[in-house]
Amino acid sequence: MATFKDLGISEQFIKALTELKITEPSEIQKKAIPYLLNNNSDFIGQAQTGTGKTAAFGLPILEKVDPNDNNIQALILAPTRELCQQIAKKLFKFTKYSEKIFVEAIYGGEKIEIQMRNLAKPTQIVVATPGRLIDLLERKAIDLSFVQTLVLDEADEMLSMGFKQELDTILKMISLQCFTWLFSATLPDELKLLVEKYLSEDAHKIQVNKNDVVNKLIVHQYFVSAPNLKFEYLLQFLKTQPKMNGIIFCRTKAQVQTLTKQLIAKNIAADALHGDLEQRDRDKVMRAFKNHKVQILVATDISARGIDVDNLAYVVHYVLPDQIEYYTHRSGRTARAGKRGISICFVSPDEVKKVKVIERTLNLNFHKI
Ligand code: ADP
Ligand code: MG
Repeated sequence: MATFKDLGISEQFIKALTELKITEPSEIQKKAIPYLLNNNSDFIGQAQTGTGKTAAFGLPILEKVDPNDNNIQALILAPTRELCQQIAKKLFKFTKYSEKIFVEAIYGGEKIEIQMRNLAKPTQIVVATPGRLIDLLERKAIDLSFVQTLVLDEADEMLSMGFKQELDTILKMISLQCFTWLFSATLPDELKLLVEKYLSEDAHKIQVNKNDVVNKLIVHQYFVSAPNLKFEYLLQFLKTQPKMNGIIFCRTKAQVQTLTKQLIAKNIAADALHGDLEQRDRDKVMRAFKNHKVQILVATDISARGIDVDNLAYVVHYVLPDQIEYYTHRSGRTARAGKRGISICFVSPDEVKKVKVIERTLNLNFHKI
């Protein structure tokens, strides 16, 4: 059985990992970490949701940066603010017993002046959303010329959010000595262009369970009802999950808002997360959800990508996603770190065929309940 030590991780990080109950490396960690530590090359890593991709790129980065060099040596790009915060926080926790390595998260919706001030201090690692990074570059408040490692986490989502131009600009600025590592649970065709353009031809590719992109620990279910009865059945389902935390997905902000109101009216501790909220409110909701003060998060697809909350018992697709990949990412909020979880779709009779398409395409087994 390989340990983090066997993979080449030093004692100072192992101590922190152990405290975080991360003791046995996951598949992607076993495959990616030794490679990334011992080779200088571009890299593509694909592994199911919730299997520890953050540590798979984060630990090699922490090993590689020089804490005595005050320049930014690694840049991690992620599609959403919440994900940036989450990654930065994870890395910070990994460094609890190491030499001081400064990680800064930069994203929109927060005062840029504060971020500029923080960046003026020694910073070795930056985790950023593409949009805010461009702002800071335009203000010459950030210097990327010493970046040796660029990580694109959830790159496909950055593209589907329309960050293509920003990514182009950033990738062009990165020096030739920089290596790019791309990590995602899904590698759709749209990514191929970006990979061809910015990753070298001999980029090393590791895919864990390539034919089963959806985490095997998820139980997939669907429930058919007339649209006007859907809410009642949702309530019934929630009653079977007392005191459990979960996420309910809708497609639009309006649907999220309506459903949140309906749930709150039934005295359920639900709150909404979507892109139109002020950053302060987004932070508040996420904090309350992670602390389990909010039991149910009602969210749009974008705001939940990559989000890692302990012990989510279920994910509800109250409105089916419009892209198959989103089903993977939505349901992947549950069954993380080796735990089990339910992913349940509430559909009308004429949507059953959509469920069947998801089932076939993703090679899943849905149970009708
Ligand atoms: P991914 O990016 O692959 O979806 P994350 O990196 O967010 O997954 O990790 C999911 C959860 O699993 C996190 O809470 C993380 O701390 C935990 N985790 C990561 N690696 C391990 C491990 N080797 N053993 C146990 N838990 C782990
Ligand atoms: Mg992730």
